[in-house]
Amino acid sequence: MSLQSLSDYLEYDRDHLWHPYTSMIDPLPTYLVESAQGVYITLSDGRVLIDGMSSWWSAIHGYNHPVLNAAIEQQARSMSHIMFGGLTHRPAITLAKKLIDLTAEPLQHVFFADSGSVAVEVAIKMALQYFSAQGKQDKQKLLTVHSGYHGDTLGAMSVCDPINGMHSLFKGVMPEHFFAPEPQCYEDGSNNIHLLEKQLKTHHQAIAAVIIEPLVQGAGGMRMYCSDYLFELRALCDHYDVLLILDEIATGFARTGSFFAYEQANIIPDILCLGKALTGGYMTLAATLTNSKVAQGISADGSGVLMHGPTFMANPLACQVANASIDLLLASSWQEKINKIAKQLEKELMPCQDLNCVNDVRVKGAIGVVELKEPVDMKALQATFVAQGVWLRPFNKLVYIMPPYIINEQELSCLTASIYTVLSAYH
Ligand SMILES: *Cc1c(COP(=O)(O)O)cnc(C)c1O
Repeated sequence: MSLQSLSDYLEYDRDHLWHPYTSMIDPLPTYLVESAQGVYITLSDGRVLIDGMSSWWSAIHGYNHPVLNAAIEQQARSMSHIMFGGLTHRPAITLAKKLIDLTAEPLQHVFFADSGSVAVEVAIKMALQYFSAQGKQDKQKLLTVHSGYHGDTLGAMSVCDPINGMHSLFKGVMPEHFFAPEPQCYEDGSNNIHLLEKQLKTHHQAIAAVIIEPLVQGAGGMRMYCSDYLFELRALCDHYDVLLILDEIATGFARTGSFFAYEQANIIPDILCLGKALTGGYMTLAATLTNSKVAQGISADGSGVLMHGPTFMANPLACQVANASIDLLLASSWQEKINKIAKQLEKELMPCQDLNCVNDVRVKGAIGVVELKEPVDMKALQATFVAQGVWLRPFNKLVYIMPPYIINEQELSCLTASIYTVLSAYH
């Protein structure tokens, strides 16, 4: 069959291509995209949608940005890729320096990975290799909290929420780790970290690291929790000789209102994972940063190499567009923008609280979440949003927005108004 009409393409897509978390037999419909510009996505049938998702946290400057385009074009003219084994290049070195300068002082060593999941795998290996090199071979487990999300490779999956992450499907292959209840912060200022402490107290001799998403748990349920929890967690990790891995793949690069979420808790992780918005949504790239204690500790046993090295490690195109994206972000008044988006989200989403189908509304930085009482009919809801000219991707009980930072007030109002309208008619 030759691919000619719009429906030929969509039909072929449906029959042969897997999309994220979909069935090959009965997939949800997909929409063919022709192009994207700023906060607008143009479908092949001519419809134009306002983007409320930033292509999953990543396209913070919007699409088709002239500065980011130029960075890629320029880099492509000198080299698009070169192996990182035995060779190095300015785009990677410049980016590493930027990340080291932007993060807390102790984080001085960078591993470039090709996706967020791989950055998490690398973080886990760093922690395990660190203790193994110290002669503490018993510290081979991780501790994390429920409702987390850390990626889709087997190691990363093993620290995702066991139910959302369908751990039962992979039993026997996937490592089993320790879980504490999801973080809860109460009105009186207290929180439930004592439940995590209980796990540490009992199992610390078997635990190499705690891994957690700071302040906002993303794909595992879009839950938000207080900085006190993280502050206390840092102290507990120190007390029990356990490393702290912060997964800022979603929260990094200003999304929660500070450049990195951990800054709001006044803590410094031992290992930090970055990804998603790192390249402004242009290319897949992630980074795992660590301190000298871990980096040098890994090599303490003599052989001491970090056991990872992807083919496309530190891809120059990706590094160069990341450099350009970070410069753009730093040159913008990002604090002001995120605050403005946060205030508007609060004002315009809070009325959803009064709707029958809504359980909770919450906002943190440029993230707005409306949690429903029941799981949504994704197919119907998706189509309704598209008909309203907005791109939102609800899942389970959640309708949420994390728009590109460049969105203006009117455009953001279209998104929030659409959520309110659609949910008022929903039951
Ligand atoms: C998306 C995400 C990942 C995985 O990143 P991929 O690039 O999709 O592999 C890991 N951790 C968090 C917190 C994420 O949001």
